[in-house]
Amino acid sequence: MAQSRVAIVTGAARGIGAAVAKRLAEDGYAVGVLDLTEDHCKDTVAAIQQAGGTALAVGADVSNADQVTAAVSKVAEELGPPAVLVNNAGILRDNLLFKMSEDDWDLVLNVHLRGAFLMSREVQKYQTEAGWGRIVNLSSTSALGNRGQANYSAAKAGMQGFTKTLAIELGKFGITVNAIAPGFIETDMTAATAERVGVDFEQFKQGAAAAIPVQRVGQPEDIAAMASFFAREESGFVSGQVIYVAGGPQD
Ligand code: NAP
Repeated sequence: MAQSRVAIVTGAARGIGAAVAKRLAEDGYAVGVLDLTEDHCKDTVAAIQQAGGTALAVGADVSNADQVTAAVSKVAEELGPPAVLVNNAGILRDNLLFKMSEDDWDLVLNVHLRGAFLMSREVQKYQTEAGWGRIVNLSSTSALGNRGQANYSAAKAGMQGFTKTLAIELGKFGITVNAIAPGFIETDMTAATAERVGVDFEQFKQGAAAAIPVQRVGQPEDIAAMASFFAREESGFVSGQVIYVAGGPQD
């Protein structure tokens, strides 16, 4: 195992990020739980601590370079040098192209892509020095195209190219970089989508499940299990991959 046992998970206040943070804590990592404010992180941190793990709340907007630098330094000082980074923070600003504002385009691209870029650039300093690291990026099945999500699908397709390029650049330092592309996962994000299209969330989930080969929607823990695999020592020969965790094959 790596000398360092510290992980940072962005967007870890709730949903997939919270599940990933809890899973990595169960796996033995001290976890920097990063979200927009420290206060947002408190439930995830408390859950990890109650289960006997170590966690630190870190407030930062991942699209802000100064805040990212300060956040990663804080984790390094208080927990130790970060070895694992999960770029999970994300937002939706869905709209059809002709109604999409420049702000909605910029915001989504900034949080997902600029955020992953800034976080990875900062964390790799510690990983390259240690000669070991794991970066896991959250893509999406929307990378393959999804009506009303020109901004989000561009960001999530961008995450795949970003993942492969970092895998090429960082491999010689013992760092693997992979992406998880979830399908429908039951979180506040999919609940917000149901609300936007005016469908009751239970009905929305049933409709989605019927179209998924395993006949259910995903849970945040399904994604946490994949992140746990990518964070392990034994996954060290898997890099630059995009794994669809979607209950069935994707095109
Ligand atoms: P979620 O429940 O909406 O949680 C997203 C988290 O990211 C929130 O805690 C949010 O903070 C945080 N966040 C947003 N902007 C941030 C920023 N600038 N800096 C730091 N943190 C920020 O979403 P989720 O469903 O768990 O999704 C997690 C990731 O998986 C996202 O990248 C998403 O695109 C991807 N994904 C989700 C699904 C799905 O079906 N749910 C499918 C494919 C991919 P606040 O709580 O403070 O707002």
